[in-house]
Amino acid sequence: MPNNEIVRDLARERIDHLFGLATEYASLQPELSDRYVQMALKLSKRTRVRIPKHWKYFVCKSCHSFLYPGSRSRVRVSQERSPHVVVTCLVCGEKKRFILDKKSPPSK
Ligand SMILES: [Zn+2]
Repeated sequence: MPNNEIVRDLARERIDHLFGLATEYASLQPELSDRYVQMALKLSKRTRVRIPKHWKYFVCKSCHSFLYPGSRSRVRVSQERSPHVVVTCLVCGEKKRFILDKKSPPSK
């Protein structure tokens, strides 16, 4: 449906914009960043537009906080088994892992 495509295109743009704002306010007003992220998540759910991968790294999947490195999250690289990045949410303690695959470097 073409109409639906337009809506999803707009949603994609808006999600990107909301994450941009979240980044801007991350160190000054983290609560505001969380609000922007929650708006983006809601929009993504409603329009079934996926959150771009490079933004997903910054969202805690447990409490949906905006995980800005240095203020809300701790980022560590581990060499155990296969090299991976561990991002710890400093709000709820949830950890997420990203495998570092040499064949497909993470976008951005
Ligand atoms: Zn969390």
